Amino acid sequence: MITVQGLSKSFGNNVVLRDIRTEIRKGEVISIIGPSGTGKSTFLRCLNLLDQPSGGSIVIDGENILDRKTNVARIRQKMNMVFQSFNLFSHLSVLENLTLAPIRLKHIPQAEAEAKAMALLKLVGLAEKADSFPDELSGGQKQRVAIARCLAMEPEILLFDEPTSALDPTMVSEVLSVIRRLAKEGMTMLIVTHEMDFARDVSNRVFYMDQGLIYEEGTPQQIFENPQKERTRAFINRVRSFSYRIETPDYDLYAMNAEIEAFCEKQILPKKTRHNLLLLVEELLQLHTPFLRDTVLDVTISYSEKSERVTLLFESSGAAMNVLESDAMADDLGIVIIRNLCEQIDYRRQNDQNRLELLLKN
Ligand code: ADP
Ligand code: MG
Repeated sequence: MITVQGLSKSFGNNVVLRDIRTEIRKGEVISIIGPSGTGKSTFLRCLNLLDQPSGGSIVIDGENILDRKTNVARIRQKMNMVFQSFNLFSHLSVLENLTLAPIRLKHIPQAEAEAKAMALLKLVGLAEKADSFPDELSGGQKQRVAIARCLAMEPEILLFDEPTSALDPTMVSEVLSVIRRLAKEGMTMLIVTHEMDFARDVSNRVFYMDQGLIYEEGTPQQIFENPQKERTRAFINRVRSFSYRIETPDYDLYAMNAEIEAFCEKQILPKKTRHNLLLLVEELLQLHTPFLRDTVLDVTISYSEKSERVTLLFESSGAAMNVLESDAMADDLGIVIIRNLCEQIDYRRQNDQNRLELLLKN
């Protein structure tokens, strides 16, 4: 139905989309996820020509819509878009919002357009609001009207750009239910969303966008349970990390601790976790002190919001230095403390690099 090849888009020097390629089949429901600023909205806007792509091709039903001859209004009817901010006409009633475009653009007789609009309002659960004005509706109701208004143009594809992110939490589910129902009825949809549970159960494919690409794609199961690439994994597990580089034995321990505290604060880690983390870092640094003259040490703390676990990574180059394994240290109190604080300790040496990874107990 849609084939996208080499799609790129820049704003001035800012390259937002580098090389998007994909094929979308009729009836597919695709969720698009990824960090903000990675071009998800731009991708949707390029698809229906709200933004003019810088390069590549978009072929819909055999027609390259980036040809000059393309009738832009017709493409937007085929691929109608639901925005975060509803964009209803506030001076028109709900019914008029739905009939305006079909009457003006498709020249459908008024009575027919109104009958169709009423059926769509019923579909989204708002038949009794036909004569209300947008300002009299809640956010969730407005968004359902916006969806019905899109459907009134009988699009082949619906594009959703974060349809629930402007809503109060209490209204998210009424909008998601409507989208779910459309999915069941076989509507082809591309949905940019931050609602991971929804993306997981409504879509048959998930695109993870990053670095101007569809960085990884797969079934919801593949993407949410077994992502293959590093950045996808970090995003799915909502991993936040913090790194500190130690280059001399005279590093500023207090400044480092303050930064770790600030990171813990930001991630809202429980008091006990913070305390244990600081203790663990301190003990590990003491064991590393004798080596600090000869190596640079990178300390990375990662917190996964999903698993609510903290991992600590000590990376250094040069001579092997598995500080936890040397026999001379076996009885060291520091080592006993470290072992008590960690659930898992993993040391690896690869190409002159020492990598000590510790999973903090909860
Ligand atoms: P996302 O939807 O993934 O958060 P967007 O597609 O909105 O990302 O934006 C991606 C990048 O493109 C951002 O860096 C943004 O500043 C830039 N951008 C988007 N629209 C415009 C525009 N009209 N003019 C200039 N820059 C833009
Ligand atoms: Mg966006």
